[in-house]
Amino acid sequence: DSSADGSFSRKQENGGETDKYAVRQHYNSRPNNSTQERKKSTIFGVRSFNNFVKSLLIDMYSRPHDVALDLGCGKGGDLLKWLKAGIDGLIGVDIADISIEHAKDRFAHMRSKCFWVDFCVGDPFLDRLEDIVHPDAFPVDVVSCQFAFHYAFETEERLRNALANISRVLKRGGKFIGTIPDSEQLVRNLKLGKKQWGNSIYRISFEEANPTGTFETLWGNRYMFHLTEAVEDVPEYVVPFEGFVKLAQEYNLKLERHQTFMKFFHQAVRDRDVKKVAEDSKILNRDGTFAIGEEQLEACAVYAVFAFEKV
Ligand code: SAM
Repeated sequence: DSSADGSFSRKQENGGETDKYAVRQHYNSRPNNSTQERKKSTIFGVRSFNNFVKSLLIDMYSRPHDVALDLGCGKGGDLLKWLKAGIDGLIGVDIADISIEHAKDRFAHMRSKCFWVDFCVGDPFLDRLEDIVHPDAFPVDVVSCQFAFHYAFETEERLRNALANISRVLKRGGKFIGTIPDSEQLVRNLKLGKKQWGNSIYRISFEEANPTGTFETLWGNRYMFHLTEAVEDVPEYVVPFEGFVKLAQEYNLKLERHQTFMKFFHQAVRDRDVKKVAEDSKILNRDGTFAIGEEQLEACAVYAVFAFEKV
């Protein structure tokens, strides 16, 4: 198989057959909790904050009647966000087949279905999207990859194939949005000589210390991530952001936004009149202080948002 940049004809160094099975097994085994159960969770605050950030991002970078592609869509947790954004169609892809079944089920139970969906099992960081999803669905207006693009950073092949896929199926002027762990924060902690850090809610553990905080390659910089009740020591990869932006340029993706969750949140509350929504979502108190505990906030602060435009 070949693409314009030749990335699909590249030899598969390890066929991408490494951590993806552990990742898939992990996400497939996550229970499909009800809304009531989620409200009782010890990470309810983390979930609310993350959902708030994703809603904002989707709202800012999609338009009514868009067709959206959600890579690593999981159990379809963003379905309502897309509904509110007024899109016409949503394609969801995930390697976890059981999660895809949950996503289909969630859509089937939605009261308002004013857009079409197509949920597919596949690895969009390795395989051609046109082999996973019916090609008639392309091109799309927006590609969203929430809390998942760091899995593409396992090998050069995966990363290039992921970017080639995204660039190829996006319309010119279309957006590629996502949420990833903030590499600047990871590097800051590494430079302090830490190999492992976190709190009672989350933990990040590198196998070796790296006090220079530099990486020889853009890919393969592995650590284990744990988030109480959500992610149990799953292998993840650093997204060295500057290098990511440079590589994305090769695929005609131009950076429009990169902010930590906290900066993005505070700016939105200041500029976008969403304080009341943040209060209703139990993120902020009336006096503007956080209604979420310190340790949960620290877990939220691990992440950053990005938005690229296909040029
Ligand atoms: N995007 C969803 C959300 O925000 O709720 C799910 C996020 S979950 C932390 C990460 C998701 O990425 C999981 O559903 C996992 O199965 C998926 N994933 C990981 N590696 C993947 C790959 N190579 N291809 C497709 N999906 C992948």
